[in-house]
Amino acid sequence: MARDLIEKLSLTGDLSDGELREIIENGSYDGDLRLAADGKRREVYGDEVFIRGLIEFTNFCKNDCFYCGIRRSNGRAVRYRLTGDEILACCREGHGLGFRTFVLQGGEDPYFTDELLCAVVAGIKEEFPDCAVTLSVGERSRDSYRRLRDAGADRYLLRHETADPAHYGKLHPASLSPDNRKKCLFDLKSLGYQVGSGFMVGSPYQTPENIVADLRFLQELDPDMIGIGPFISHADTPFAGFANGTAAMTLKLISVLRLMFPRALIPATTALGTVDPRGREKGLAAGANVVMPNLSPVRVRKLYELYDNKICTGEESAQCVACLRTRVESVGYRIVTDRGDVRRATQL
Ligand code: SAH
Repeated sequence: MARDLIEKLSLTGDLSDGELREIIENGSYDGDLRLAADGKRREVYGDEVFIRGLIEFTNFCKNDCFYCGIRRSNGRAVRYRLTGDEILACCREGHGLGFRTFVLQGGEDPYFTDELLCAVVAGIKEEFPDCAVTLSVGERSRDSYRRLRDAGADRYLLRHETADPAHYGKLHPASLSPDNRKKCLFDLKSLGYQVGSGFMVGSPYQTPENIVADLRFLQELDPDMIGIGPFISHADTPFAGFANGTAAMTLKLISVLRLMFPRALIPATTALGTVDPRGREKGLAAGANVVMPNLSPVRVRKLYELYDNKICTGEESAQCVACLRTRVESVGYRIVTDRGDVRRATQL
């Protein structure tokens, strides 16, 4: 790949649509691009890797996204939800292991009303005032987001999935709209959440132009966190027959994201570790600076099955952290006990 493109991206944090497409279509993931991204990441975050304790607290979902294993129409999914006490118990274990951020993720489960979810959030913040609470429970009303924020939620993860409306329509039923998803993201931002967005890499029908549109949308949103991972097919979904996204494309895009958004918190995702056994290590080396080990009770881990062959569904949380620590160190970084808030320009 042309060195001058990488240099321009490093220096200016941007490229033209055509230049981005050139990298997406012809760039190699390991080489100058990765080195430039790693350099940028070290400038801002040094060798620190932030950990987020992921608690997958419900796999009930009212939506029917074509790619997702916990979609409403999947009658083979065995459904569960954790109680508030079970969620708190996960946090207690996590706090002892050094976690200072808890991510509550789930399907869009109407059982978790504002009242109930606010109580869960407030309970966590009361017991662990030194911790950040991140929610990832899909699209809700602005009013609902406001209440959750008032209850103490600090951050929110909501991937836009794809910025192109036509592509969005190929991944989702007509009941879901790309405009509403984007509106949710701007609502969350205006309410003072640290916001995370992102997209799947290699999702069915995705084109290089779609990916450029994703990068442009992220520039418009300017999120604090950006999560991307390869699409992985799930046998009990309409997309069962589609090929998975690749680690190489995901790694390349992590590097591009690091250069475009030097301060962003970018996770090396579980999906990346699923398509490549050293995917998360490679993700860190490509510019990612966050890992999100699973803190859910082992008995439910296999049930939160968004895609096939998901890793880390067997071990206890303590084992997961120990294993990750070794993996992170193997590529020259270190896990820190820290909330891991975004580093804004004024703080440097
Ligand atoms: N219901 C929440 C949480 C969704 S699960 C929400 O709407 O945000 C978190 C992410 O997993 C999704 O945003 C999606 O990008 C990803 N995901 C879902 N199915 C997937 C699959 N088959 N392969 C890879 N990633 C998937």
